[in-house]
Amino acid sequence: MPAIAVKGTHDILGKEADGYRYIERVFEAVAQLYGYQEFRIPTLEYTDVFNRSTGEGSDVVRKEMYTFLDKGNRSVTMRPEFTAGVARAIVEHKLYATEDLPIKCFYYGPVFRYERPQLGRYRQFHQAGVECIGVNSARFDAECICLAMQVLGMLGFKGLHLKINSLGDEASRKAYRDALKAYFAEHIDDMCADCHERLELNPMRILDCKVEHDQEIAKGAPKMKDYLSEESEKRFYQTLSILNDMDIEYEIDDSLVRGLDYYGEVVFEVHAISKTGADYGALLGGGHYDGLLEALGGPQMAGVGFAFGLERIYNVMKDDGLLDDLEEGLDIYVMPVGESVLDESFELVSAIRNMGYTCDSPLAAIKLGSQFKKAAKKKAHYALIVGEEELQRGVAQLKDLEKQEQKEISLENLEEELDSLFGEDEHEHHHHEE
Ligand code: AMP
Repeated sequence: MPAIAVKGTHDILGKEADGYRYIERVFEAVAQLYGYQEFRIPTLEYTDVFNRSTGEGSDVVRKEMYTFLDKGNRSVTMRPEFTAGVARAIVEHKLYATEDLPIKCFYYGPVFRYERPQLGRYRQFHQAGVECIGVNSARFDAECICLAMQVLGMLGFKGLHLKINSLGDEASRKAYRDALKAYFAEHIDDMCADCHERLELNPMRILDCKVEHDQEIAKGAPKMKDYLSEESEKRFYQTLSILNDMDIEYEIDDSLVRGLDYYGEVVFEVHAISKTGADYGALLGGGHYDGLLEALGGPQMAGVGFAFGLERIYNVMKDDGLLDDLEEGLDIYVMPVGESVLDESFELVSAIRNMGYTCDSPLAAIKLGSQFKKAAKKKAHYALIVGEEELQRGVAQLKDLEKQEQKEISLENLEEELDSLFGEDEHEHHHHEE
């Protein structure tokens, strides 16, 4: 039996990785436009970090974490999300005291959740996200949403669906939880086993239940908006009015509660249906939080953030043809003709790469016909055909593979020749791309 990947994980190979890298680069460029800096944090954290922040009422902590004892008997967890680890790092390094506020960071990498694998749902998947910590204003909440929408816009997404809700402040949420408890207590006998647990731990999560019958019952439940404190309500409308000013469309969704315990005030998700009709689930989720740093032993400091699910972004973009033009193709394919020119061809390949042009070669004297086939597979723009007789004269044949035009060029002037073919601008561009 051939070996297989762990259930719920997946390989991202070659062209697919080009797509992921492209998405990450666009994300990174936009985050930098907004003044964010990268944080790279460990994949592994003490389990306690997630228990204290992501929260014991969340599905993630209750049943989805990859938690194990290391050889020193410490309970560690493969991160199921980044926000908790970022907050841990800020607390541990006291960045809240030494850095200018807000601390604005972006991150990306793999995360792990033991969920049932299905369309758009993996056990090892990838997130890219931001956190903005150390200020408490509706403007920063709105700016974070703008950033998310701008990344998706730059990636070419159309017809996005931004859902937004307010969970209010601590007092609003407590009042709402009490109201939900009272309402669902009346119906709980008819509801699923999960909801029985949620009623005790985190009644707001019942609104997220996917069981149809439970959804029917949830429709009659009290609404968060009727429990918002005056201040939270004002704050929510301030965020919305900024979105209006920025021409960002949204839909207020009462049932949006988000799965992680630390959220308060504004929360949001973005959905998109791909052209094939596939619904991979939310492309991103995020929101405001107040008690996160404190929960990890730091000061009380508010923050806001979101995380993209890169698999979902990638899948929608692929379905919608937004990744079709990524392949740049090889600049030069060097074709040695005969064993006697192999050494010199090898040196030429190396020289061309040092000039900043992408270059490849079979490094063997295979039939020229096969070499052209290989060049076509690599979408090469030019072939440099190196023959013995020509080498002796210090020249080679350069063939434009698209126009099918060939000319002899002097190897001494190769760099000038290539620069003029590719245009100085593009040459610059090549260097930057590396
Ligand atoms: P969350 O950290 O739960 O707010 O999730 C943020 C984003 O990560 C979601 O909007 C999804 O795009 C993505 N995501 C969450 N869980 C999964 C999963 N199991 N597989 C793939 N993507 C996921």
